[in-house]
Amino acid sequence: MSGFNNIVILTGAGISAESGLNTFRASDGLWENHRVEDICTPEALAANRELVLDFYDQRRAALRTVEPNAGHLALARLDREWRGELLIVTQNVDDLHERAGATRLLHMHGELMSALCEECGGRVPFGGAMLDGTVCGQCGAEDRLRPDVVFFGEMPYGMERIEAALAEADLFVSIGTSGAVYPAAGFVQMARHAEIETLELNLERSAGSGWFDETRLGKASQLVPLWVERMLDI
Ligand code: NAD
Repeated sequence: MSGFNNIVILTGAGISAESGLNTFRASDGLWENHRVEDICTPEALAANRELVLDFYDQRRAALRTVEPNAGHLALARLDREWRGELLIVTQNVDDLHERAGATRLLHMHGELMSALCEECGGRVPFGGAMLDGTVCGQCGAEDRLRPDVVFFGEMPYGMERIEAALAEADLFVSIGTSGAVYPAAGFVQMARHAEIETLELNLERSAGSGWFDETRLGKASQLVPLWVERMLDI
């Protein structure tokens, strides 16, 4: 596809849906039968630490039972073969983009396979169950690790890098996200201000669908490989 050099891609829970990981707003506003405010806020962690740790322990365990799908694999191919600048910004906390092979990747909402130490602020790789007890690999503090997931009200990771990438981009593509969670939901407006092309690939129109130059509706496992093939001219 001619004319583009620098691409910023935003992905959401929809790209992992066909791997078997549930999205959360699409059906009933719940994430695995929990209200967002009960498992995704600093207040929930303070009030009910066991429930929150158990929830993310279960999500981490579930990750081992799923695989990247054709959407993740196509983006990883684009990452490998695209000669221009490219940044995949994901809101997902799963590790399916990197398991597919993507490297130019930023987890703006954190990662299930990482822990955040409340004592020293360190971020450490973590694959186990926090409910079983933890020791921080950096400072040695006991039972001070929490999921390295950005809760509502907390600052997403990498905002400066994302804004810089958007300022340099000439194409913004949003895949499988409902457009309900800010600041990610506002990236399309930033892209429009920068007068770059915007494309949405989603199962249904997102909240900010009207901001996109073009929306293609369908499953990520079908739409994303088709789009990548056109971008790579194959
Ligand atoms: P969301 O659940 O709010 O919306 C999912 C979107 O994906 C919907 O618009 C839906 O129409 C679309 N979708 C569903 N199946 C699809 C498919 N097969 N192909 C293409 N699109 C499909 O998700 P969000 O906008 O990413 O916001 C949710 C927040 O919840 C994020 O911040 C994320 O951290 C968290 N979350 C993460 C995961 C994960 O890591 N896999 C899963 C659930 C929630």
